[in-house]
Amino acid sequence: MKELPREFDALATEKKWQKAWEEKGIYHFDWKDKKRPVFSIDTPPPYPSGDFHMGNLLNWTYFDMVARFKRMNGFNVHFPQGWDCHGLGIEVQVERENRIRKREMPPDKFRKLCEKLVETYVTIMKEGIMRLGCSSDWTTEYRTMDPDYWRRTQLSFILLYKKGFMYQGTHPVNWCPRCETAIADAEVNYEQHDGTLHYLRFPVENSNEYVRIATTRPELIPACVAVAVHPGDARFAKYKNMRLRVPETSRTVQVILDEAVDPSFGTGVVMICTYGDKADVKTVIRHKLPVIIILTEGGRINQNGGKYAGLTSLEARKAIVADLTREGLLEKTEKITREIGLCDRCDTPVEILELRQWFMKTRELADKVEEATNRVLWYPDYMKVRLIDWARSLDWDWVISRQRVFATPIPVWYCKKCKETILAEEDWVPIDPKTERPRIKQCPRCGSSEFVPEMDVFDTWMDSSISCAVHAGWPDSKDWKRLFPADVHPSGIDIIRTWAYYLMVRHLALFDEAPYKSCLINGMVLGADGRKMSKSLKNYVATPEVLDKYGADAARQWAAGGGTTGSDIPFRWPDVEYGWRFLIKLWNASRFVSILLKDYEPRKDAEHALQPLDKWVLSKCEKLTQRVTEAFEKCQFNIAVEEIRNFTWRVFCDCYLEAVKDRLYNPEVYGQEKRKAAQYTLYLVLERVLKLLAPIMPHVTEEIFQTMYVDEVSPKSIHVSSWPTADEKRMDEKVEKEGDLVMAIITEVRREKAEKHLPLNAKIAKLTIYAIDKATAETITKGKGDIAGTCKVADIQASTEEGKGREVKPYGVHFIAEY
Ligand SMILES: [Zn+2]
Ligand SMILES: [Zn+2]
Repeated sequence: MKELPREFDALATEKKWQKAWEEKGIYHFDWKDKKRPVFSIDTPPPYPSGDFHMGNLLNWTYFDMVARFKRMNGFNVHFPQGWDCHGLGIEVQVERENRIRKREMPPDKFRKLCEKLVETYVTIMKEGIMRLGCSSDWTTEYRTMDPDYWRRTQLSFILLYKKGFMYQGTHPVNWCPRCETAIADAEVNYEQHDGTLHYLRFPVENSNEYVRIATTRPELIPACVAVAVHPGDARFAKYKNMRLRVPETSRTVQVILDEAVDPSFGTGVVMICTYGDKADVKTVIRHKLPVIIILTEGGRINQNGGKYAGLTSLEARKAIVADLTREGLLEKTEKITREIGLCDRCDTPVEILELRQWFMKTRELADKVEEATNRVLWYPDYMKVRLIDWARSLDWDWVISRQRVFATPIPVWYCKKCKETILAEEDWVPIDPKTERPRIKQCPRCGSSEFVPEMDVFDTWMDSSISCAVHAGWPDSKDWKRLFPADVHPSGIDIIRTWAYYLMVRHLALFDEAPYKSCLINGMVLGADGRKMSKSLKNYVATPEVLDKYGADAARQWAAGGGTTGSDIPFRWPDVEYGWRFLIKLWNASRFVSILLKDYEPRKDAEHALQPLDKWVLSKCEKLTQRVTEAFEKCQFNIAVEEIRNFTWRVFCDCYLEAVKDRLYNPEVYGQEKRKAAQYTLYLVLERVLKLLAPIMPHVTEEIFQTMYVDEVSPKSIHVSSWPTADEKRMDEKVEKEGDLVMAIITEVRREKAEKHLPLNAKIAKLTIYAIDKATAETITKGKGDIAGTCKVADIQASTEEGKGREVKPYGVHFIAEY
């Protein structure tokens, strides 16, 4: 057997294998193989942010371990990798970097800038995934901004339109005035902010009385369509159905009763504006109130705002407060904190506008979503509640249209004359209606030949929420159902309500089938201080820093061992350092074994000559295999990594290796047979440890495996070798118990030598061991050879007498060593 070199250069080794794996193509999905069962991973195509952060590292390590475990278990693993390119984030960044607004540039030129930025970011993130040693199949790489992907997104829209799931409607939508686009509920972050509560007087019509109203948004007064009080609030019963004059306007509004009003907030009277918040939307629908939209898409007051038209909402607020003060209608102001919705991409406060948009009917699928979600296996199980609650909480359907440039076009035109909607045919896509006419001569309804394109584009989730079908080969492959539903969809805890939900609702609508069989959730990565990792909190650690310092195999141990699946995991340097120390321990132990096995002929059976300690370590090794396999099956990565590290370090290195050294060095004392038995055991146990560790530490295990274990009959990589099966015949409780006792005696004798400042190989003339009973004495007699060899004892006596001397805990055995 070849000897491992003394020095181990982790970074160079990792790079070497990443290159070799890629060249050999060992992670490619075998499309022709119809024998092996398939295992498909729905790798979430990441949004190219230009930063493969520690959260990504955690997520990718999770499902790469699953991929590697399944591959070694005989599955034909499909591990695709794509990029979810479109979206607001890229547009905002392009605007920032080039100091432009998208409207100041031709759309195709702006789109080119976006594509360029995406490529830069993809390169950075791809390097991160590769450096982590992920077993992705790069022949599957795709980008959602490519026309070939447009085709799939557009086709899915056409099919859903025909099934009646897509419609246009005028509906209140979340609107970012800075990005000038509608955004989905999931893209709104609610935060507590300071605000001012204004106490205003609304004069009662034809009376000298007035009603006091509290509001944080006086600039919306021109859009006030009603004033509401709680039906049970006796203070205001007399105002029911009376009309109030809306200050600064010539209008009056009615006082209505509404259960949703909180009598303890402000004055107990609220104005209903279209729209201040989502509560207003609900009230307007309940009471069939009129709608007065006073904000433009850029967030300014429009003509409905009368004299405030043209002002920004902040300017309008100042102006109207000044007017109200002058007229004596402002009583007082009060500082409060209140919840406001912010745009996920730019942190601008979100407004609610009523606009014509495209929608997908998602709310009517809530029951189906719940039922399908319950059938999916969740790691951990309790995470499914998040998806179900989200599906149940939605107030309106999914707004799928956006007023952006860098996105998939909506394949629709309108007849200029009769406004008929012309939907692209299935074989027209990919198509951009802004640059191409529909492929018909005349409007089917009125015969006109003039068409106007749909200018809106799709929400980026329309691209990424068909990934399960696209990965499987839909719509081109005939047997795409072979890879569908995906066996696992990995997701961060923060994107369950988006990614996991949109996938579910979209595939249910399209194919009437859940898109994934299981969902693997990773938590957030926290800073060392326990707070969410963020650049502004100064607890941010960049992935390249970790990989440069300790390499991927150490970082992956942190990810695997940091906590249970789904829990938030703090990033601590000591955890990565521990991983690094384990790596070195494994390397040194393997090197030592490689020296001891220099003259060993691999796979030579020595079963008949196995000694008690050999059987002891083999029994423990089989049990380890059983526990680790079970842990991987259940995605309990932290249990898997702890079990293997403990076994390797404590049982294999500290005990077994120390105990068999003597037998291996002195065949003249023990005989060749027993020496071969030890070599055979070392060979089996190290190989087993390497295989169990391979999904967690793919590089170092490959390096050791290739040096020590690869010959003509071996597989070309440890990662395509077969996963070990625990051999129950080798598991032996009695052998383990006896071995544990012998090991405990050896450990205690060595401890005594250390306390006496003697070298570990100091000779002991006589060792008297006081066993508590006959059975124990027999066990000790059986292990005499190992104890004598390891502890350098000339004469060992096992006595059944009362214990004297140094105690071996917890066995009640004592000993006296005479040096
Ligand atoms: Zn925004
Ligand atoms: Zn027409």
